[in-house]
Amino acid sequence: MQKQYMAVIQAGGRGTRMWELTKDNIPKPMLLLNGKPMIQWQIENISRYGILDFVIITGHLGEKIQEYFGDGSRLGVHIRYVHETTPLGSAGALYYLKEMGVKEDSILFVYADVMFDIDWKRMISFYESRQGAVVLAVHPNAHPGDSDLIVLDDMQRVTAIRSKNNIRNGWYDNCVNAGIFILSCSVLQYLEKAAYMDLEQGLLKLLIDKGLVFGYKTSEYMKDAGTIFRFQAVCKEQADGIWRKKNLENRQKCVFLDRDGTVNQFCGLVDKEELLVLEEHAAEAVRMLNDSEFLVIVVTNQPVVARGMCSIEDIRQIHRKMQTLLGEQNAYLDDIVFCPHHPDKGFIEEDPAYKILCNCRKPATGMLDQMVEKYNIDLKNSYMVGDSTVDIQTGKNAGTKTILLRTGQGGQDERYRVTPDYIVDNLKIAAGIVLGDEGESIHV
Ligand SMILES: [Mg+2]
Ligand SMILES: [Zn+2]
Repeated sequence: MQKQYMAVIQAGGRGTRMWELTKDNIPKPMLLLNGKPMIQWQIENISRYGILDFVIITGHLGEKIQEYFGDGSRLGVHIRYVHETTPLGSAGALYYLKEMGVKEDSILFVYADVMFDIDWKRMISFYESRQGAVVLAVHPNAHPGDSDLIVLDDMQRVTAIRSKNNIRNGWYDNCVNAGIFILSCSVLQYLEKAAYMDLEQGLLKLLIDKGLVFGYKTSEYMKDAGTIFRFQAVCKEQADGIWRKKNLENRQKCVFLDRDGTVNQFCGLVDKEELLVLEEHAAEAVRMLNDSEFLVIVVTNQPVVARGMCSIEDIRQIHRKMQTLLGEQNAYLDDIVFCPHHPDKGFIEEDPAYKILCNCRKPATGMLDQMVEKYNIDLKNSYMVGDSTVDIQTGKNAGTKTILLRTGQGGQDERYRVTPDYIVDNLKIAAGIVLGDEGESIHV
């Protein structure tokens, strides 16, 4: 039997952040964003996927929301309301769904101040593929240092939430809670009465301990618009069509980056985190691309695993450092893929499990193909950027445009006889080419 879904919008006003735009009698979810109330954008995105049954949780000035949307028929949906007279936290009002006798199996749950345009079919299919109670959308963002971080294991199971309020030691994955959830109605059993319950600190904590929460990673548009500065940025990105373009129903453009000699300084094999130091222009370049419609994904050969120089976990730790350093400069990677394999036997400490001829070691295209599948990427409108002829050959094999950098090995490896589309001095100039400024490049 197919699962049935409904949607709950939490518009009860969480937090006490300044909201200079709200006049005394406008609840913030009703603020006009390019001509439509914020909640309407959410209803339109969700209802496009055939989910038409909505509950809006309202608080302060909630009657204004109800007056405007009524029963939802004007938008082709059915809306009911739960009005909080005393604040019940982000999840407490879910208790009332039991009293309303909801018949669906699962709930899409979103905060009213998070603007998004996502392909719900993909998120639902991830949710249905996991035997969990909750899936939360996660993504890297440009300010991980002051965001709540989600820690995932190999199965994308959430093992911890690291609050922005706690002191952080060490490196971390840039994996942030976006404020968009799918909850099984079975979780309503934990709400025994109409009482205060925080979603993250209360309900989710309980379910994480039971191993029932998973993180769905996506590059789609999901942004908190809860401060005046963020609200303005979100308006602009809507007007520029970025929300829509990033929906994974649409083909994506991507800049695939090599790692060593491209993002971080070249120093031979990197087998410990101390050896990872960013290239001078890398963070700025990645930030420029983050502000565009391009995804940024690192694809790197790491034969250090096959050679027994370090473990998969060591590589992950090196990648946490890379993400933390980029994040400190407001830059992020949409994903990172690595090939741990190596075909040649004969190294003393080698790990035979990884000594295979694989289809992911560049210049094979396995890592790019995997990302094409995950993010619906259009290779011919994408770029492969790196410091070695191996990267350029990879791009040729995959059918992307190619940019060779003079940083790192600067193409001196001469492993492949191959001509890149562009040769430039550093990643920042490469980002400029991608974004349409060919001024400082040599077009080969
Ligand atoms: Mg390299
Ligand atoms: Zn491989």
